[in-house]
Amino acid sequence: MKSHWSDEEAARYVTRYAQQGVNADIALRVYTSRLLGRDPALVLHGGGNTSVKTSVPDHLGRPTDVLCVKGSGWDMAEIEPAGHPAVRLAPIVELRALSKLSDEDMVNIQRCNLLDSAAPNPSVETLLHAFLPHKFIDHTHSIGVLAVADQPNGGDLCRALYGKRMGYVPYIMPGFLLAKKAAEVYEADPTVEGLILEKHGIFTFGDDAKQAYERMITHVSTAEERLQKARKAVFTPAPLPKQSASAADIAPILRGLLARDGAKPMVFDFRTNADVLNYVNGADVARYSQVGVVTPDHTIRTKNWPLVVPAPDAGDLAAFKAGAAKAIDLFVAKYHAYFAKYNKHQDPPKTELDPLPRVILVPGVGLFGLGANKSAAKIASDIAESTVRTITDAEAIGIFECAPETDLFDMEYWSLEQAKLGKAKEAKLARRVVAVTGGASGIGLATAKAFKAEGAEVAILDLPGEGLTSAAAKLKCAAIACDVTDIASVKAAFAKIAESFGGIDILVSNAGKAWQGKIGTVDEQVLRDSFELNFYGHQRVSQAAVEIMGKQGFGGVLLYNVSKQALNPGPNFGPYGLPKSAALSLMRQYALDYGAEGIRANAVNADRIRSGLLTDAMIADRSKARGLSQQEYMGGNLLAKEVSADDVAQAFVSLALAEKTTGAILTVDGGNMAAAVR
Ligand code: ZN
Repeated sequence: MKSHWSDEEAARYVTRYAQQGVNADIALRVYTSRLLGRDPALVLHGGGNTSVKTSVPDHLGRPTDVLCVKGSGWDMAEIEPAGHPAVRLAPIVELRALSKLSDEDMVNIQRCNLLDSAAPNPSVETLLHAFLPHKFIDHTHSIGVLAVADQPNGGDLCRALYGKRMGYVPYIMPGFLLAKKAAEVYEADPTVEGLILEKHGIFTFGDDAKQAYERMITHVSTAEERLQKARKAVFTPAPLPKQSASAADIAPILRGLLARDGAKPMVFDFRTNADVLNYVNGADVARYSQVGVVTPDHTIRTKNWPLVVPAPDAGDLAAFKAGAAKAIDLFVAKYHAYFAKYNKHQDPPKTELDPLPRVILVPGVGLFGLGANKSAAKIASDIAESTVRTITDAEAIGIFECAPETDLFDMEYWSLEQAKLGKAKEAKLARRVVAVTGGASGIGLATAKAFKAEGAEVAILDLPGEGLTSAAAKLKCAAIACDVTDIASVKAAFAKIAESFGGIDILVSNAGKAWQGKIGTVDEQVLRDSFELNFYGHQRVSQAAVEIMGKQGFGGVLLYNVSKQALNPGPNFGPYGLPKSAALSLMRQYALDYGAEGIRANAVNADRIRSGLLTDAMIADRSKARGLSQQEYMGGNLLAKEVSADDVAQAFVSLALAEKTTGAILTVDGGNMAAAVR
């Protein structure tokens, strides 16, 4: 591991933040925190923390000694000065005189001493930083250090490696007691450059930002070098099926099996590479993957153990499903037993969390991270990947061992985490995966946006190109290239959805294009082209969606944009209206054939929406032909109001939420009796 410190870059931080009234200590604290935070071998997702002791003016302008320490909710990779809230130092240092202090009281006292009442909660490791005298203190959960420390003889290995340069702190849950113990270890030998926290991580100290940071790099490098010595080859692979199923094949099966006992569906995130495969394919994976987390705060994101399912044979998914169901039963039973065992000693008793896994290891395929949304799923799979590296290294030099289960329970059921339970209300469409075809513009884009606003995970499907990528980037959702007139493209797109999210819940089949021509003379090819897109396009994506929904087994929603042409055809619009009428029948057929599976099918009949189908030039022509202003033309309905793409989008969302409605058409046209459903 190399130091990325640069004198020039450090000077730029100092200058840039000075313009915002931030002192040099804090500017440099931001600089090296980012250096640490950007290396996943050191820190992941809000893990780790850093601090600086400095002086800032209080509200009367008097210099005040403070500890600026990482605030909860901030990620070091992107941290700003506001991510290091200032806490008055003297009052929190005095706490050391106490013999005990609850986490709630500790958080309260820390908050009472903030200079800014709106600042985030200072890190749970604040007192550890405060009780040590050093100006700069850095803390990471380095993979290299953990691979050495997470051993039955981890303490001895670390002592052999670092000697007197580091102090050694036995495992204690983060909080007041750990802070006191760390200070005692330091005071026993004030020449140490940092502390190794057994089964947890590493702290380094410095008089300045560079020294603390570079000591971190040096000591982590020492651990990494040790891991390269006397290494044995791991892991011995277990036999695999000749042809493994793909992640896309099995994700919907797993997602369906986990939506059990009324549990809401999870969102998945898939990872695979040579290291992951080497790990999940190991004959001994049921041992080394089930020991526990590599550092206790991971348990809040991943639970203590991943679920291991059988290797899926592409030719026998039914056997995989049966094996996976059994593995899930065992996982859930084990989790309930773990909770019961440790909750017995709790006063007051804890509230049991859901017993479902957050990481699934699939031999021959890779791993899935799971969560209530895509970002939680990604965090779980990032941590799982880092766990793969740590345990692989640990096993290469010895045997992986982590903090005892009772400590992991204390972390998972930490009172501060329990206090958050049930407080965050989930959005209406949270955990739901939505695919919108023709999603890069017009009604499709507005619909993607509306579903996103309801908390859904959205994939925009459209023809490949700049339009698709920029729309998805703007909406912060997935871009999946899909030509609905090409069966191979549709299959690939839906496999991508299943792999990326674990499955699909709602399809908005919206892609379409208007062809015109007088029906008696129109070229047959025009009609065929229109049917290809405006009818078969809907059919292809519907088939692909119901296949995934069938594997999940908990229903789904198909929504179609059928247009007014299906109900109230316009002159010379046959090439567009005919396939749209067929698409309306298609919706009814899916409602009929799939109702028993809980799959609902509904359509929106929209009219006169400014879009790629009805361009500004067309609006100008038509209003002129009728002797109307454009405004009169567009508002030519009972409500005399122009209808927008957002209005149509809301109709799709309403139909997705209407749990007892199937085979229905919802009209969004401002009122037009000629196009009314009859
Ligand atoms: Zn830590």
